[in-house]
Parts: sequence; C-alpha cells; structure tokens
Amino acid sequence: MHKVKLPKVHVCQNSRNYMTLALKQAHKALLKDEVPIGAVIIDSTSNAIISTAHNATIHLNDPTAHAEILAIRRAAHKLNNYRLLNCILIVTLEPCLMCLGAILQARLQGIIFGAKDPKGGAICSTLDYFSLKGVNHKFWVIEGVLAEESIRLLQHFFRFKRKQGEVPKWS
Ligand SMILES: [Zn+2]
Repeated sequence: MHKVKLPKVHVCQNSRNYMTLALKQAHKALLKDEVPIGAVIIDSTSNAIISTAHNATIHLNDPTAHAEILAIRRAAHKLNNYRLLNCILIVTLEPCLMCLGAILQARLQGIIFGAKDPKGGAICSTLDYFSLKGVNHKFWVIEGVLAEESIRLLQHFFRFKRKQGEVPKWS
C-alpha cells in the first residue's frame, strides 16, 4: 500500500469539478481520434485554471504529446516560469513514467488523477513513486476521482479501435 498525502481540504472538495474539466478535455481527444486522456493545471492558492490539454500524439506526430506534458508546457509558458511550484495537475489517468519525470521537473505541488493504469501508470501501478530513490522533489497524490468516467471513455475508444481492426497500432 503506497502512502497518499492529502492536501488542503478545499482541493479535495473541488477535485471532482476539476476532474470534470479534465474529462471534457479527454472527450475532445476522443472526438479527434486521440487516446482520450485530459489534464488541467490549477493554481493551488487562487484555484485559477492555468492550462488545459488532451493527448495529441497522433496529430502532432509527437510521442511526448501526452495531456500532462502539454498542460505543463502551456502552464509554464503562461506563468513565464519553468517551475510550477504552486500548481496542481488534475489528469484523468495515472501518469506514465515520462509524465512523472515532467511532473518532478516542473516541481508540481500535487496531482489528482482518475483511473489507475495497470499497464503504464508510474505513480502506484507499474512502479511506486513514493519509494523511488534519488527523487529530489515530493508531491502529494489523490487518486480515484471520477475514475469510472475515465475508464468508460478509454474502453469506448479501444473497443471502437478493436472493431476497426486497429488494435496493434493502439496497444
Ligand atoms: Zn504520460
């Protein structure tokens, strides 16, 4: 069982609202034939939304264009700062190893994610972020917010792709 540190109460109360925004981004990705994952970055002090993004790897021909990476890039650009010290990332699916690296580099204060990703999640599924050695930044984690909605979108997408016979491309 991994440790989960809880943030300030107001974030917990609003986490479903922010996840709903992230799910809207995931839905946008679905409409564009991208893997439906969405992300939102907020300022933890003002609760203002700094950036939103969805997966765009196919349209951008960019393997790094995950929702989290794009949201971090946009937030850093908007705040004119390569560190996002007072920011929280809300994302519909557990971040992968690449995105974990970006979260650490950005010095995000905390993350809230929806569904766990047993195949690629780097927070608590395929590896346990809390027990990693050599990590010079710690962020808090809340998991499982509107997870069913996130899974439903992903299942819908992959079922459709399987029907089209495109599974090898997507798996
Ligand atoms: Zn990722």
